[in-house]
Amino acid sequence: MQGQMMQQPLLVSSLITHAARHHKDQEIVSRRVEGDIHRYTFGEMAVRAKKLAQVLGRLGVEPGDRVGTLAWNGYRHLELYYAASGSGSILHTLNPRLHPDQLEWIINDAADKVLFFDLTFLPLVRDLAPKLTSVKHFVLMSDRDHLPADPASMLAYEDLVEAESGDYEWPVFDENTASSLCYTSGTTGNPKGVLYSHRSTVLHSYGVAMPDSIGISARDSVLPVVPMFHVNAWGIPYTACMVGAKVVFPGAEMDGESLYELQEAEGVTLSASVPTVWQGQLQYLEASGRRLSTLQRAVIGGAACPPAMLRTLEEDYGITVIHGWGMTETSPFGTASVLKARNLQGTREERYAVQGKQGRCVFGIDLKIIDDEGRELPWDGATAGHLMARGLWVMSRYYNRPDTDPLVDGWFATGDIATIDADGFMQITDRSKDIIKSGGEWISSIELENIAMGHPGVAMAACIGVPHQKWDERPLLVAVRKPGADVGETDLLEFFAGKIAKWWTPDAVVFVDALPMGTTGKIVKAPLRQQFQHHLAADRSPESV
Ligand code: ADP
Repeated sequence: MQGQMMQQPLLVSSLITHAARHHKDQEIVSRRVEGDIHRYTFGEMAVRAKKLAQVLGRLGVEPGDRVGTLAWNGYRHLELYYAASGSGSILHTLNPRLHPDQLEWIINDAADKVLFFDLTFLPLVRDLAPKLTSVKHFVLMSDRDHLPADPASMLAYEDLVEAESGDYEWPVFDENTASSLCYTSGTTGNPKGVLYSHRSTVLHSYGVAMPDSIGISARDSVLPVVPMFHVNAWGIPYTACMVGAKVVFPGAEMDGESLYELQEAEGVTLSASVPTVWQGQLQYLEASGRRLSTLQRAVIGGAACPPAMLRTLEEDYGITVIHGWGMTETSPFGTASVLKARNLQGTREERYAVQGKQGRCVFGIDLKIIDDEGRELPWDGATAGHLMARGLWVMSRYYNRPDTDPLVDGWFATGDIATIDADGFMQITDRSKDIIKSGGEWISSIELENIAMGHPGVAMAACIGVPHQKWDERPLLVAVRKPGADVGETDLLEFFAGKIAKWWTPDAVVFVDALPMGTTGKIVKAPLRQQFQHHLAADRSPESV
């Protein structure tokens, strides 16, 4: 016997319809690349999104066509999120920090029909335009006054939107229709596209809103610093509409001072970004002696949150840290380190130990760890294995890549190495390509970095495996000192004593002015491995190793 409930497809447009009906006065605030602050409401956004859907139709965009964006976090980008997906075409967010050759490759691979871009990227688009084979229209996300003098084939967003009536009904279609496309950053080989569906996107929004994940509500003012071009800003643009949270967009200004000002001015309660951005914020707070008076929760993910950062945010600033893990392939939300009731009974140190892990799953996503032969490993918090994921918002195959099959027995191989404890809290020990293999044993580079960053004189650290005559590989620590700090190699190596097995201690420390940063604000280790490949050529390892 069938249930007798209504059938409604899970569509991205239903999120904006809900926000416009139930939270129509809620604010969306954006720092614009034009230099000012823009504010309006969900009600106004919903009307403009419909006008933009009409624009897309007028530009010849049909259901299933890809609509490219090269844009910062801002209200026009949000309108595109809804106009493109809502009208049945596919939003394709592009990472402007990629090398232009990679952007060219991605845009041609996706066959984007229209390219929307912020003023910042005008020179980039000018260079790219002749090489793009599928793009029919280039739309500057600003008004006519900002169009270049030779606007040959460029259109102004505001002109286009103003010309429409907004008299538009969101079409209803199969919830498994593709809604958006995001390419991985392609640290190995060409980037690969992940094609999200309306269904996966709406379910992911529920996942992000749950109290044991990021937990966003109508009482929040949310600042997604994580870019809308990187895995849909962790789903926040959708979840904010689902729950009616105020949204604050930082535009292109992501330094500590700009973020501080925006958070204070807009009463931000929850802010989300990668650890390197938090690092910048903490440095600003420390130097200025200021405090974030409204911020309650810091969502930190994309790379491991160093325990020292967690402690500083919690103890010095009274901000609760939510450490999260995910990937482009998992929409991205995978886990969050939100405590269980029994963790609250523990000492502060025990709580930090759990919160510092990458976290546990909410319903909708599942994880397991396996050994090299594919056997499932125990959840004891100590045994590390290959992390596999599956769930309602996990990718099943890559876009345009019928030759690859990323699933093993129905599970996606994440490429991460992790432990899972008895309570289901997962902890990443490494990316499989970063793990250090010394004498046949694994050393966790993340754990060594976490310890190093707990030293008061260290701002950032990356640990890499460097070829070694006797042990194949040994850990080398590459560190950046905090401004004014004079920590030396011996100091830092002594700091590891008692914190890890002695043979895990790095063989050497190199101090550098800055670490190489990838296009999504994460430290990239490949150039360091290249630069320091001969550093341990002479056997410098400690006697005891
Ligand atoms: P890529 O960096 O490959 O472009 P993503 O941005 O999707 O892709 O990054 C996903 C990867 O980032 C994960 O597989 C994992 O290695 C790493 N990552 C994400 N969150 C965390 C975290 N909290 N701690 C450690 N690593 C993380």
